Amino acid sequence: MHCPFCRNPDSRVVDSRTTDDGTSIRRRRQCTECGRRFTTVETASLSVVKRSGVLEPFRREKVIEGVRKAVRGRPVTDADLASVAQAVEESVRATGASQIDANEIGLAVLPPLRALDEVAYLRFASVYNAFDSLDDFESAIRALREERAAAADGAEDDR
Ligand SMILES: [Zn+2]
Repeated sequence: MHCPFCRNPDSRVVDSRTTDDGTSIRRRRQCTECGRRFTTVETASLSVVKRSGVLEPFRREKVIEGVRKAVRGRPVTDADLASVAQAVEESVRATGASQIDANEIGLAVLPPLRALDEVAYLRFASVYNAFDSLDDFESAIRALREERAAAADGAEDDR
């Protein structure tokens, strides 16, 4: 980045340390032109591109908010929701992208939610995959049954 004092594009790092929570690094820099010092903070950025095109920082609470409706009345705890949100964050960060579409966050919710509660998964998928007929539900349910059968086949060799 440019020196904030003289706009010179070059600076050297004179000190760098990780913050206490380990999520960012503060670097003390010195401008190679004017010699003044300034501090930069480096964090792995992850922004969500909303449907309106507006960027906002990724927040796990937003994921939980989005899933909460789908789990209403289901045997799902706040800790379960927190672990779904964590799985979502890990999978979107694993892509290495610094920006991700809100829609992709929705898709990333599906696998951990399916593992947690199939009814909640179907509710959530019906919104995100924009199910518009019973056929869509039927094929999603069929896919769940087929996967379950495939998993059972794998577990039982004597069938
Ligand atoms: Zn400077």
